[in-house]
Amino acid sequence: MAALVPERPTWLEIDRSALLNNVRQLRALLTPPSLLTGVVKANAYGHGAVMVCRLLVEAGVDRLAVATVGEALELRAADIHLPILVLGYTPGALALEAVAQEITLTVFDLETAGAIAAAAQASGKRARVHLKVNTGMNRLGVAPGDARALLSALSEMRSLEVEGIFTHFATSDTDRAYAEEQFRCFVSVLDELAAAGLRPAIAHAANSAATLTMPHAHLEMVRCGIALYGLDPDEDDTPLPSTFVPVMSWKAQVAQVRHLQPGDAVSYGREFVAQQPMTVATIPVGYADGFPRRPRTWGSVLIHGQPAPLVGRVCMDQCVVDVTSIAAQQPVRQGDEVVLIGRQGRAELSAAEVARRIGTNNYDVVSRILARVPRYVVEGCVGDEGKVGDEGRHE
Ligand SMILES: *Cc1c(COP(=O)(O)O)cnc(C)c1O
Repeated sequence: MAALVPERPTWLEIDRSALLNNVRQLRALLTPPSLLTGVVKANAYGHGAVMVCRLLVEAGVDRLAVATVGEALELRAADIHLPILVLGYTPGALALEAVAQEITLTVFDLETAGAIAAAAQASGKRARVHLKVNTGMNRLGVAPGDARALLSALSEMRSLEVEGIFTHFATSDTDRAYAEEQFRCFVSVLDELAAAGLRPAIAHAANSAATLTMPHAHLEMVRCGIALYGLDPDEDDTPLPSTFVPVMSWKAQVAQVRHLQPGDAVSYGREFVAQQPMTVATIPVGYADGFPRRPRTWGSVLIHGQPAPLVGRVCMDQCVVDVTSIAAQQPVRQGDEVVLIGRQGRAELSAAEVARRIGTNNYDVVSRILARVPRYVVEGCVGDEGKVGDEGRHE
């Protein structure tokens, strides 16, 4: 890999070989013609949507899904031509541009579907939509008992093409029995529609967890997010097979090193006061990068392959870590590499470990990393078997 000169002394590295590997691993679970949709909402779970989508196109995913029309338009503006499904609610007023850009929308009520159809008709186009059915998540979707009537009304709308129908599992990562119950409900809706000659061509239900553990639920398409990025749907109940590899590393460079005397305090509010002589390093990462300040912090980062604990309050753009014991072995200098997520030498700080420390899940840890942290694609060394090369990654 050519030396990376990041435009800021903190950045994300997106491992191309890991992402391509994870797509291969998912593809191997599917039986054609099940389509693989890559879920890239929330800036591709913080990984960088446009960059990730270009790699997903290269990896041969069939389709993309996002949460909002704005996210879909960003991809179209970047010349991503795959079919894109907006999973969330799109008000009629936003439909015109979506239809013009051939973005597929989710519908679940007659009124919104009518507004979308009217927008399509006004521009002389057909709007492609998927109908969402609520089978137990109770977030978005038409009631199972109302699906047939709604679909039959939608099929009367000339400017609407109902290409798909889907539902979403509440517990496919933690409670398989409830997920199976939801799936049975969905299948009975599909059967009823088929009998009425109304079943849309593409039915889908599985997220990453169900793609891994409920092969009978793959139907015509699966929607995978977290597994693409090499992160577990649930660390305890649905870990990824070991052939999947995390895609993201978060790195920084030490901005400054200083020595403290007993009584010297660090950062706003002087909450941390040195009790003995110590060495601290300032890291150019703060809460406005997605590095939380409250109620709990990251705890520590890696420097020279060892944990460096945070001291004092995390600021908007910077924070300070204790490197006393690390510096006792080898001086810590400005520019030294800091790892916030990922590997450094033999040490690893995973998104899941960070999630445990701050009291959330790995989805939340990575998707909260804000846009001002630059993202770069790096070529890792994940081989065809999903194994990391002997020399380690990025080294
Ligand atoms: C986010 C989302 C997914 C992807 O879930 P993962 O657990 O990341 O695979 C699939 N479907 C819907 C409706 C979603 O909102």
